[in-house]
Amino acid sequence: RNLTMHFTQRSGWFRRTRRVTRAVDGISFDVRTGETLGLVGESGCGKTSTGRSIIRTYTPTGGQLRYRAADGTEVDLATMPSSKLPEYRRQIRMIFQDPFSALNPRMTARDVIAEPLKVNKVAGGRELDDRVVELLRQVGLRPEYRDRFPHAFSGGERQRLVIARALSLNPRLVVADEAVSALDVSVRAQILELLVDLQRQQGLTYVFISHDLSVVEYLCDRVAVMYVGKVVELGSTEEIFARPRHPYTQALLAAVPQPDPTRRNILTQPPLEGEVADPADPPPGCHFHPRCPFAQEICRTDAPPLRTTSDGHQVACHFAEQLTLDGLTGATAGR
Ligand code: SF4
Repeated sequence: RNLTMHFTQRSGWFRRTRRVTRAVDGISFDVRTGETLGLVGESGCGKTSTGRSIIRTYTPTGGQLRYRAADGTEVDLATMPSSKLPEYRRQIRMIFQDPFSALNPRMTARDVIAEPLKVNKVAGGRELDDRVVELLRQVGLRPEYRDRFPHAFSGGERQRLVIARALSLNPRLVVADEAVSALDVSVRAQILELLVDLQRQQGLTYVFISHDLSVVEYLCDRVAVMYVGKVVELGSTEEIFARPRHPYTQALLAAVPQPDPTRRNILTQPPLEGEVADPADPPPGCHFHPRCPFAQEICRTDAPPLRTTSDGHQVACHFAEQLTLDGLTGATAGR
């Protein structure tokens, strides 16, 4: 609720110059048990900072992270003291983007998977070995691979190892940050299948961070689109992909390549111009207005709130109701 992650840098004489980067700027959304929520947007939109705040690698500078534990008790992870966090870190795990740098090259597969079990004193001795074998099987790796070092695994196998480690403590929520982006397309499909199977078998909840919208469409139940630290559109995957309301979502979807030549992309927006705004110095009003083909005077001064539209999803745009797939109706389009 109203989650904020601001980074402050000081520089200059006596470090008097202060620069505040608003990586996450007051966002609110729910993650429902057993679903996959996609967080999408270009690089620099605040997706990773949101994910890292959820697992409390970053301590949010404001707002709440309300987490309902398996026994029904609700806690605020944002303000929880570090001494109490380990209990919840077991329940909320992260899969990182790059399986090549996520693994210590000096640790065998067994050590990689066993480490969280040992640190959290969950298993030891024979029980630990059995659990490692079970986890390797769950992610589709052969148990005899347990004495291999990461360099002996392919990219896909390394990511399976990373997933096995993330699952070792039986988490409830997994934050996957660009979990398949570094993989070849064929391997990517296998890892996505694995994530879906594991979710089905273990009732996992995923927050899936990605800039790849075709992967998000395949995997996610709902999607939150972020731009410069804000959620600009939120709804079911079906709704967002069939009827995107925000011009930024429309532009992202228009840029997805359509591999089937007999099908046409329903969106024909031209590619987005310019770069994502600097989160340390975002434009006033709607942060998207310098790149928005439909920007009006009000967009330059008033920030649009995230509100529910008639078709049930949430959009932060002054003209959400008038924006159709073909552009803006009922108002004069143009910058
Ligand atoms: Fe574009 Fe204005 Fe909507 Fe922002 S509020 S997305 S600038 S039309």
